[in-house]
Amino acid sequence: MFKGILIEGSRGDQQVSLKTIEEVELPAGDVSVDVAFSTLNYKDALAITGKSPIVKQYPMVPGIDFAGTVSSSDHADFKVGDKVVLNGWGVGEKHCGGLAEKARVSGDWLIPLPEAFSAKQAMAIGTAGYTAMLCVMALEKHGVTPDSGDILVTGATGGVGSVAVALLAKLGYSVTAVTGRSEEADYLKSLGAEKILDRAELSEPGKPLVRETWAGAIDVAGGQVLANVCAGMKYRGVVAACGLAAGMDLPATVAPFILRGVTLCGVDSVMAPKQERLEAWKRLSEDLDTDLLDSMITEVPFEDAIEGASQLLEGKVRGRIVVPVTG
Ligand code: NDP
Repeated sequence: MFKGILIEGSRGDQQVSLKTIEEVELPAGDVSVDVAFSTLNYKDALAITGKSPIVKQYPMVPGIDFAGTVSSSDHADFKVGDKVVLNGWGVGEKHCGGLAEKARVSGDWLIPLPEAFSAKQAMAIGTAGYTAMLCVMALEKHGVTPDSGDILVTGATGGVGSVAVALLAKLGYSVTAVTGRSEEADYLKSLGAEKILDRAELSEPGKPLVRETWAGAIDVAGGQVLANVCAGMKYRGVVAACGLAAGMDLPATVAPFILRGVTLCGVDSVMAPKQERLEAWKRLSEDLDTDLLDSMITEVPFEDAIEGASQLLEGKVRGRIVVPVTG
């Protein structure tokens, strides 16, 4: 028996509570993990509040990330005592997730905890931070360098945004942070942002093309914000799009793509191949300042994680939430 958050019921009529769960209720998998830390990502908050159809089957333990210690393994790559990290793969959506003291998953989904990070720091990074790194890698892959010009990061005080700002600044980029929270300007500057842009300037319908400003962009917003970001890209600029905080739609024109050769690259962390994940975590070990990472953390007790999910969606949380489960 162990403690875990359980989402029960059905879509549109779900109940969420901290419960005692029996190990036999966990899904099949060849590795069992004692979870030390988990986290709350935007997607976890949607799952726990039921605001979007994230949960694909009930009952479900939410939590798309965890870090912990292997307690049993039939997988060749992992043995009892190994420290591991999991991000995505549908865990917390269709396979019980990390907001419980125990998890059972396929060993193919696990990666070793990078030496540079504690389990708590790995969860401070979590899917949000690992996605920020995937976005940086996408810009690099398409030829963006610090000499290319300014980089825009939307949703900058959020999880993906905070890590993206810190990574880009450390790599020598000049970063403009877009935020709806002007009171967090000092925080964003402490992460390395050079300029702050009010989110309102990108939220209203705009022209198909505006002044060429950004060499690259990491966008967590989607919707009108992403359309306006594309319209303001420099010739051959690159936008890495990973989120929908402003909306699922994309009310844009093709003008930035056919007249300026702008690249819009989609970034998905959930099913990203293992090699890319290992590369992203290696790069995080090298390029993320752990003091800055620590400054992004809000620790939410396991008992309060359900309430924390609502606060995340209300935009009341800055940076990353870490949930100590047994850690
Ligand atoms: P957070 O809640 O931590 O951050 C989201 C930020 O977006 C907020 O802090 C806010 O920043 C900004 N924001 C909120 N509402 C709006 C709005 N209406 N218009 C523009 N910006 C807004 O979430 P995460 O950083 O964890 O995730 C961000 C997005 O990325 C989510 O949509 C999430 O689903 C997606 N995501 C996608 C992944 C993938 O694999 N593709 C992986 C991880 C996340 P501020 O107040 O500074 O403006």
